[in-house]
Amino acid sequence: MRTRNVNLLLRIRETDGKRSYKCPVIAANGKLKPLYAVVNGKPEHHPEGVYCLRYSKSGKRVWEEVGKDAGKAITEKLKREQIFRAQELGIVVVEASKEPSKRNLRDAIHEYLERVGISRSRKTYGEFARVLPDFADVCVNKCPQDVNSYDIMHYANALRQRGLAGRTVANRVARVTCFLRWAGVADLLDDADKRSLKYVKKTVDAYSVEELVALFAAATDKEWITFQFFVGSGGREAEVAHATWRDINFSDHTFVVHDKPERGFSPKDSAERRIPLSDELIAALRSWRELHPHDIYLFPNKFGQPNGHFLRMLKTLALRAGLNCGECFSVGKGRRQTCLTSPVCEQFTLHKFRRTFATFHHEHGVPVTQIQEWLGHENIETTLLYLAISDARSEKSRRWANGSFKDLFARHLPSANKVFAPKYSPNSHLSKQMSIKPPEDINDQSGGNTRQSRQSYYSKATLRPVRLTPTNDL
Ligand SMILES: [Zn+2]
Repeated sequence: MRTRNVNLLLRIRETDGKRSYKCPVIAANGKLKPLYAVVNGKPEHHPEGVYCLRYSKSGKRVWEEVGKDAGKAITEKLKREQIFRAQELGIVVVEASKEPSKRNLRDAIHEYLERVGISRSRKTYGEFARVLPDFADVCVNKCPQDVNSYDIMHYANALRQRGLAGRTVANRVARVTCFLRWAGVADLLDDADKRSLKYVKKTVDAYSVEELVALFAAATDKEWITFQFFVGSGGREAEVAHATWRDINFSDHTFVVHDKPERGFSPKDSAERRIPLSDELIAALRSWRELHPHDIYLFPNKFGQPNGHFLRMLKTLALRAGLNCGECFSVGKGRRQTCLTSPVCEQFTLHKFRRTFATFHHEHGVPVTQIQEWLGHENIETTLLYLAISDARSEKSRRWANGSFKDLFARHLPSANKVFAPKYSPNSHLSKQMSIKPPEDINDQSGGNTRQSRQSYYSKATLRPVRLTPTNDL
């Protein structure tokens, strides 16, 4: 019987990106020249290379990775040859398990975070760095291999008890699952567990014209130009934060989402794109540029770096504009905050500007494929999801809603157009609340100047719908 061959090869990546297996180079002393392979008859250094053994097992060709260390690779080759020789002699060989040695959960997390830090964005790293140590606190002194479904569900429950929303809980569990999969632990949750983590998906929503008018009337210059750019470009938060003046083309009125690896930014799905801007927005940007000739970014923070607080800026503006819905609350720093008095209204998000951009273009008759391109969506399904809102508020939907109930109101309930009379006297506290308060707090917290004098603020403010701030006795 012929002894099975075990070949040692170096797997390299060629200049065109393809992987190939090459013979390793043997030095004059008979040892392997570390990470050198014979390519086109010549020795070449390939630091990215990995040694592999090639042999056949049960009639199939097997490639076994043995690492980057040349000495260790030779030892593995000899070991494999010895195993085959012993098997041919009828000796039963128990092969050592290839499973990684057990290590502490925190050590595994540490290593995983280092990898995430190298290969993923700073934002993704931040999310993992927040979630995983938290999870390790739940599974005290465990190895990744010992983690079970109970630990994960226990962790989810702990998050819920802290007052986190269903979506946040599901996202954090997904991060943990991602890490466990890397650590070699298969999917632990069964269908019942997964069902319990389901959350209600919110409908996609866009800003109405009235909301935008009210928002921009109360905005400082800086807020005005920033959020005009959000709505006018449909850019993602990171895209706006990393937008530099070089990305704005003042002659063809476009904004290009450029790859800027040197500034720590790459567009999603690795695709650059060009978005047309309205003449009004371009004119406003030109004027903003004249005021800030030395800035690199369009809307930098006070250190000249990409601004990371657009959301806080928007929520503060919405509160000041009196647009908060009054129904949201959040638990932050151990205390409950309501959107009546704090900038925590869930109705105001940066992504909603992107949907507004899509909705406005859709309502103006721009083809869906064009909107998809401007938004940088890989799949058209995502774009269609964005456009559902404009279908719901379209003229056709209005006709349907009115038509379906026309009979009921016209024939059976002739008292349509019902107007409810207030039960309060004109001097009651309700009518007092309807007066507009002087904008004591319109002084910008984000560093800009107030957009208009107090006088003109009043004139604008009276034009827009005013949200009442209910008092406790209502
Ligand atoms: Zn709210």
